[in-house]
Amino acid sequence: MTTSQERARLAQSDNEIFLALKGEEARQRAGLELIPSENYAFPEVLTLLGSAFTNKYSEGYPGRRYYGGQDYTDRIETLARDRAKALFRAEHANVQPLSGSPMNQAVYLGLLEPGDTILAMDLSHGGHLTHGAPVSHMGRLFNFVRYKTDPTNGAIDFDHLRAVARETKPRLVVCGYSSYPRDYDYADFKRVADEVGALTMADVSHIGGLIAANVMRNPLDAGFDVMTTTTHKSLRGPRGGLILCKAEFARKIDASVFPGLQGGPHMNQVAAAAVTFRLAAMPAFRDYAEQVLANAKALAAALMERQVKLVTGGTDNHLLVIDTVASFGIDGAVAQEALDRVGLTTNKQVIPDDPNPPMRPSGLRLGTPAATARGMGHKEMAEIAEIIAAALNAKGDAATETALAARTHKLTSRFPVDGL
Ligand SMILES: *Cc1c(COP(=O)(O)O)cnc(C)c1O
Repeated sequence: MTTSQERARLAQSDNEIFLALKGEEARQRAGLELIPSENYAFPEVLTLLGSAFTNKYSEGYPGRRYYGGQDYTDRIETLARDRAKALFRAEHANVQPLSGSPMNQAVYLGLLEPGDTILAMDLSHGGHLTHGAPVSHMGRLFNFVRYKTDPTNGAIDFDHLRAVARETKPRLVVCGYSSYPRDYDYADFKRVADEVGALTMADVSHIGGLIAANVMRNPLDAGFDVMTTTTHKSLRGPRGGLILCKAEFARKIDASVFPGLQGGPHMNQVAAAAVTFRLAAMPAFRDYAEQVLANAKALAAALMERQVKLVTGGTDNHLLVIDTVASFGIDGAVAQEALDRVGLTTNKQVIPDDPNPPMRPSGLRLGTPAATARGMGHKEMAEIAEIIAAALNAKGDAATETALAARTHKLTSRFPVDGL
């Protein structure tokens, strides 16, 4: 957040960028954000991201820095680590990863050797790019092998997982997802990993806030070795990554983040993460997280009432995936564009074993964290489901889309964004 004086100065120094900022703010206010990985950061986070902490170099860790002048940076990083440990019941926390991708890279590079085998979820079944996509550098450095979901019910098939693990002997089993709409019992993963002597890592980037609020299961409670999460998705913090691990891996993880992978941490981000972990421990955040889940269930139910086909037939978390080909006879890219025209921001999504290419996949992914942060509830989810179904049935009809866009704007105008 900036004062009006600061904004006037920006407008004078660089009006093009100032106008783009105003445009983006207006877009975020008027549109409805349904991408499950996006959210509105807490206003305190926006304040700290634009603060003097951005000026400071703090290579090293609290009490062991390379440069002087670390009184306040040591204080915020210690608070951030202690709060993260308490929030997630972890033995050790590293708050320096610049974002989710370097966070996962730091774990792989810190605990394994290049060429080692990592067992992770198939990308089309909900895994993330950083779980060894062939186009990623990690996919070239490590030998990633895959498990899939059960085609009959969309859940993880643990017999299949065990068979792949026995055959491939991974050194690390990774679970976690970007587009899997279910929860799982982490003890099932742990059992398989223990059988083959592998380490366990849960990448809970999407649901970190829901785990912090204790409305979804915490993998660390099931004895996982490492848990990683972004801080900017359901947690509503700054863009960044957080690594939590058992004490026995603390030195390896810290050395892997710095000096292994990164230089100076972004201390404005660390300060914002510290306040995020404090806010996420409050009762109000638990209410928020419960509503995120209730809204996802309500949105799923309202869509299914309109004969919309959802991957796995529903949701246990904050996200859902529509099979747009089966439901509306259009691919996910066409669906995403149609919803953009009525003010709903979503993203096209591959579905399990998708026959269609990633830029024209068969699905569309939706989530409720951002809409819930605006204060929306059950009634609004029903209205959103109606707009989605009408927009995707309209097949591009301009008059219908204009009327639907007006409905979206009427809805968003009643729910202002905190801090915008
Ligand atoms: C978003 C996400 C990441 C990567 O985060 P970035 O900050 O975009 O690099 C990693 N893993 C999972 C499961 C994610 O959903």
